[in-house]
Parts: sequence; C-alpha cells; structure tokens
Amino acid sequence: MVLSMTNSQLRTMYMRDHPPIIRPALEVHRLTSVSSFLHTRMHSSARNLWFRLLHNKVPSKVNLRPILRLPDEMCVFCGGRETTAHMLFTCPSHADAWTNYFALVFVPSGPLNMDQVSQDIMSLNLQEYRLLDSELKVSVFEAVTCLLTSVWRAKWQHHFDAVAPDNQSIVDRAMVNLRHLSALNIL
Ligand SMILES: [Zn+2]
Repeated sequence: MVLSMTNSQLRTMYMRDHPPIIRPALEVHRLTSVSSFLHTRMHSSARNLWFRLLHNKVPSKVNLRPILRLPDEMCVFCGGRETTAHMLFTCPSHADAWTNYFALVFVPSGPLNMDQVSQDIMSLNLQEYRLLDSELKVSVFEAVTCLLTSVWRAKWQHHFDAVAPDNQSIVDRAMVNLRHLSALNIL
C-alpha cells in the first residue's frame, strides 16, 4: 500500500494535521533551528517528542481514533477536537501555561496567538522569537522544548495517574528544565 503511493501522497499522509511548509526547507533560519535540534543536550524524552511531532506521530485522539477505534476525538479538558496542535498548544486548558512561560522567557511581541505559535514550532520556523536577556545559556529551540515537554508530561500524568494538569506546575517544571539545560550548556 505505502509502496504504491506517490511522493506527494506520502507527504500528504505524513503531514496531515500539520501546517503546510510554505518556505523551502533549505532556508538559513530553518537550518539554524535544525542545527539547534541536532546539537541540543536536552533529554532523550524531549528528542523523542520532537521526532513524534515532526512525523505527526503524537498520540492525539485524532491520530489514534482510526487505529484504536476510539468513540470520539474530543479533548477531555475542553471538548474541542484533539489534534496534535490542540493537545500540545491550542487547548484553552493550558493557555495560561504558554502565556506565562512566554512572558518569563521571550521578548513580548503582542498577544500570544497559539495557532501561530503551534504552526511556527511544528515547522521549526523560530527565527521571529527572541529570548529575554538573562544568564541562561539556551537556544530559542531549547526554551520552547522545555515548555512543550512539560505540557506533554502533564497530559500523561492526567491520563495515567489522574493528576489534574496545573498550569503553574507546568511552568515551574519547564523553568527547572531550562535552568538544568543551561547548566549543561555552560559546562
Ligand atoms: Zn482541549
């Protein structure tokens, strides 16, 4: 089945639920992000999440429904359709975590538009994001990843351990990870 598909069909399959990549893959800013991705010292679980994201293999309900025959695609927190972007970025239940984390780490550029943030992150277009001046030695890519993995972890804690996600805890954990990563980068 897969072998008989054209390249564009394969691409459509792998990119479903992802924003289209409009810019050519070899632009310098994307190479910078990809380079950050390849050279970061972040934990293997974060790398694993990134590989899932880039290949649209995040186990959101929309992705799992056809495989597990789930009865619905609804987010348990808000009732929205649980796409990958919804699960990790745009669900209103963790909007405060993104907003507060961005206020702590990034130079503000108007109200946070999570649809745009999710598209930028999932296509590694991070050149518009600037870190606030601080002693932290991390890249934009690493800073984004710290919150992403914290949201991811909170989702699974809710799923497996029935721990209600708490936005302040999500931000706290992301900041701990950020400082840890910075210390590794300074070494
Ligand atoms: Zn939701």
